[in-house]
Amino acid sequence: KGERLRLPPWLKTEIPIGKNYNKLKNSLRNLNLHTVCEEAKCPNIGECWGGGEYGTATATIMLMGDTCTRGCRFCSVKTARNPPPLDPEEPNNTAKAIIDWGLDYVVLTSVDRDDIPDGGAEHIAKTVTLLKERNPVILIECLTPDFRGDLKAVDTIAKSGLDVYAHNVETVPALQRHVRDPRANFDQSVTVLKHAKNTQPDLITKTSIMLGLGETDDQVYSTMTALREADVDCLTLGQYMQPTKRHLKVEEYITPEKFKYWETVGNELGFLYTASGPLVRSSYKAGEFFLKNLVN
Ligand code: SF4
Ligand code: SF4
Repeated sequence: KGERLRLPPWLKTEIPIGKNYNKLKNSLRNLNLHTVCEEAKCPNIGECWGGGEYGTATATIMLMGDTCTRGCRFCSVKTARNPPPLDPEEPNNTAKAIIDWGLDYVVLTSVDRDDIPDGGAEHIAKTVTLLKERNPVILIECLTPDFRGDLKAVDTIAKSGLDVYAHNVETVPALQRHVRDPRANFDQSVTVLKHAKNTQPDLITKTSIMLGLGETDDQVYSTMTALREADVDCLTLGQYMQPTKRHLKVEEYITPEKFKYWETVGNELGFLYTASGPLVRSSYKAGEFFLKNLVN
């Protein structure tokens, strides 16, 4: 320990840019949308916005402000105990802007708002409902907080009309305390995913794990098994990247071959799809995967 690991060659390669990318990029101006894609300088933006072979442009929009009430040790979002209040106009304005922008698949995500009684569930659900009213064919994924295990809040999201209910367990059970805010834990997150599925069985559920934080292969395998047992449909695995020096260090750069191996394991375990690769993020080409694997 001590020295920072060197970046391996597979994380330095050029990323392809799909054909819709420039169109979407140009039309984003003046819409006042905050995309995680741009703000996190996500390396997949060319592929996600470009839409890939199915032309399904995907982007991730951040709701409920830029300040989180939690402080996970892998995340560079800023933290405060009492962030500014929610903007009541946000659901309507965001829905309108997303429709104007012309996305096929949108991921709505947010910071955690433990300062609000329902954690912001109604606010997110309202955005979904307004979006579907305006465009019934747009596909919507919500990547939501754990709502501190409040299953009423989970119901609110699960019944809002969304297509994919995503919540990230982030890492294996043994590393939860080390990686996530102490208010989060593996069992609570799995309960949330399981409840979403039970309450609305036609929903697709989805979660994500970062690798390279010091987890063992056995731990990854048993985490994947536990997720399948909870009826989680889709899984993404990607390399953890340290956002700043103040954040957790990368313990290991997992090779592309190893990521491929986990993809095979995921398929064997029966996930509807497993996206696994060094640059895979939870929303990576989500629209394309959805159409390729889930619509017959
Ligand atoms: Fe945006 Fe997610 Fe794709 Fe990155 S992986 S470009 S954040 S949709
Ligand atoms: Fe970041 Fe989400 Fe953790 Fe907040 S709850 S610090 S946004 S990962």
